[in-house]
Amino acid sequence: MPHILVTGGSRGIGRAICELFAERRWNVSYLYKTNETIKSGNIFPIRCDVSLPDEVFDSVKSAEERFGNIDVLVNAAGISINGLSTDYSFEDYRHVMDTNFGGLFNTTRAVIPQMVHNKSGIIIAISSMWGKTGASCESLYSASKGAVDAYVRSLAKELGPSGIRVNAVSPGCIDTDMMKCYSSEDKDALIEETPLSRIGNPSDVAETVYYLASEKASFITGQIIGVNGGFLI
Ligand code: NDP
Repeated sequence: MPHILVTGGSRGIGRAICELFAERRWNVSYLYKTNETIKSGNIFPIRCDVSLPDEVFDSVKSAEERFGNIDVLVNAAGISINGLSTDYSFEDYRHVMDTNFGGLFNTTRAVIPQMVHNKSGIIIAISSMWGKTGASCESLYSASKGAVDAYVRSLAKELGPSGIRVNAVSPGCIDTDMMKCYSSEDKDALIEETPLSRIGNPSDVAETVYYLASEKASFITGQIIGVNGGFLI
């Protein structure tokens, strides 16, 4: 069975990705920071803070020991801190950048050598539409996702000749814990602004990731695919 490693697989979008791939007979390893939430014969949880390079290297090793080479890496681990740019601390900056961009940097650094050796592999980052358009009071988050997009495009150029595809899925508003800070009025306003008139589900993102990981997407690399109901076109 093919092997996918998902960061942030314990909740929200990452969890939906783990469950979808496991259901479709993949071996799934996932990284979580605080709570292990799902586990079965083909789902292997690993505690790991993605912002710490040594932990990431050890976790990738454990995943490979459990299920063999990693065919697909998905980076879903992410955090957001709302606030005015002038209120953010240096620690906020490090926390957001080291998790959202650093997590991608650390995990890709850990899996790329083996993918290059095999001349195959698929990397999919979960970005955000705010990385493209910028969000007021989420400037650190937006900047971290802008870095994700640029890194994905660069890696795609660097790794294409080695048979590795690199893409990002860039969600709009998706119903997970990350949206808990929004009131129902805020959510209604977001729905109003969305041409398809709804908030997205984690499965909307998971199905797009599944497509990008499949042979059907074999000519797609370096793309940032929006899954946002038309919120940002
Ligand atoms: P959730 O808050 O529901 O889940 C976040 C996940 O990331 C959890 O599994 C959490 O693990 C994990 N995580 C956070 N920090 C770390 C860390 N340092 N090391 C390892 N794991 C960590 O978020 P979503 O599912 O909504 O978000 C998933 C991705 O999608 C994020 O990158 C987010 O930016 C992006 N996104 C989300 C949108 C939305 O509207 N929901 C919109 C656009 C993009 P644990 O449970 O152990 O803390």
